[in-house]
Amino acid sequence: MEELKPLSTMTPAEINREFAERAGIHLHQWDDITGKCRCGLYYSPLRDPQPDFYADAREVLKVMMEREDYQDFIKYMESKLYGDWVAELFSHMTTPGLLAKAALQWMRERGK
Ligand SMILES: [Zn+2]
Repeated sequence: MEELKPLSTMTPAEINREFAERAGIHLHQWDDITGKCRCGLYYSPLRDPQPDFYADAREVLKVMMEREDYQDFIKYMESKLYGDWVAELFSHMTTPGLLAKAALQWMRERGK
C-alpha cells in the first residue's frame, strides 16, 4: 500500500482529492488535451464547479452528515475540541482546511 503523506505536508488539492476518494466522491478533473474528465464527461470547471472541501467546511459537513458513521465522527470531533469548544468549533468551520484535515485524519484512522 502506498504510504500516506502526512496531512501537514499536503497541498489543498491533495487534501481535496484524498478526502473525495475516501468518501467515495468522484471529482471531475479537467484534461487540457481532451477537454474531458477521465470518467468520460466533457467537463467544464466553469459550468460544473467541483466542491472544494479544503476551502469550505460546509462541503465537508454535507458529506460527513450523509455517512452512517456520522455519530462516530462527531464523537471524534468532540474529543478534539478542548477548552473553549465554541471557539474551536468556529475555528474548524472558518479556517480553510481545518475541518477537511480533521475528517480526513479520522477516515484514515478508520481505514476508509
Ligand atoms: Zn469525471
